Amino acid sequence: MDDDPHGVERPEWPPLREVEQFALHNRNLRLTCRRCGTVRILSGHGVWWLFRQRRWNGHVNQLARRFRCAACFERSGIQVSPDVQATRDHPTGDPLPDPDEREWKRLVSRYRS
Ligand SMILES: [Zn+2]
Repeated sequence: MDDDPHGVERPEWPPLREVEQFALHNRNLRLTCRRCGTVRILSGHGVWWLFRQRRWNGHVNQLARRFRCAACFERSGIQVSPDVQATRDHPTGDPLPDPDEREWKRLVSRYRS
């Protein structure tokens, strides 16, 4: 165990369980196709807003099923769910719309209270 209570840097973030935590911690989502390895990075804010609008379950275990690899679909017509990880890398591809500002502030203030 490397569990030193004094001075050891804590893990970078607490485990991210919900898409709103990705957004609040300014993490993006790295989607890696399990079949062809294509990587796409999506803005955490944008994904949160997308899930919010569609009332999708934002639990981390539920994220992958909402996405599929565009490369595999174009090439072979099959739908492959990616592996999802938190990242600080910048988003790639078509950007997702940013959250509605009022909704975003509401989320932030909920977490601060
Ligand atoms: Zn793929």
